[in-house]
Amino acid sequence: MVATTTLKPSFRQQLQNNYPDFTFTDGKKFAFRPPKTIIIGPPEPNDSLLLLHELGHALSRHQDYHTHIERLKIETEAWAIAKKLCRIYHIPYDEDFVESQLDTYRDWLHSKSICKKCGLTRYQTPDGNYHCPLCDS
Ligand SMILES: [Zn+2]
Ligand SMILES: [Zn+2]
Repeated sequence: MVATTTLKPSFRQQLQNNYPDFTFTDGKKFAFRPPKTIIIGPPEPNDSLLLLHELGHALSRHQDYHTHIERLKIETEAWAIAKKLCRIYHIPYDEDFVESQLDTYRDWLHSKSICKKCGLTRYQTPDGNYHCPLCDS
């Protein structure tokens, strides 16, 4: 497998200079670890964009999420910030890629919400627990 990358060392350095409060470090996959660590995953075609997405989480001060709906909300928020950062840093923003990333959360949200007993859509309370309107009443 050929690893293509758009992430130039100079771009990474530029981000580190512009956001000295955050620590940029290499890891197995792109992630934001609150409060201040941004993990840079292995080279891939959208790595610059993924890095800006994680920076989006960091700038929004995203912490833990309690419900899956919240998770989808913070992912959408982080991509909105990544889109703005793309314009500033002249990184191509790949709409299809972003939508497919969000789709994985949408699918996951949907599969999590189905009741295994009766197939109805369950709802999630703020404590993170799911309840089936039929089986749990
Ligand atoms: Zn994210
Ligand atoms: Zn049920």
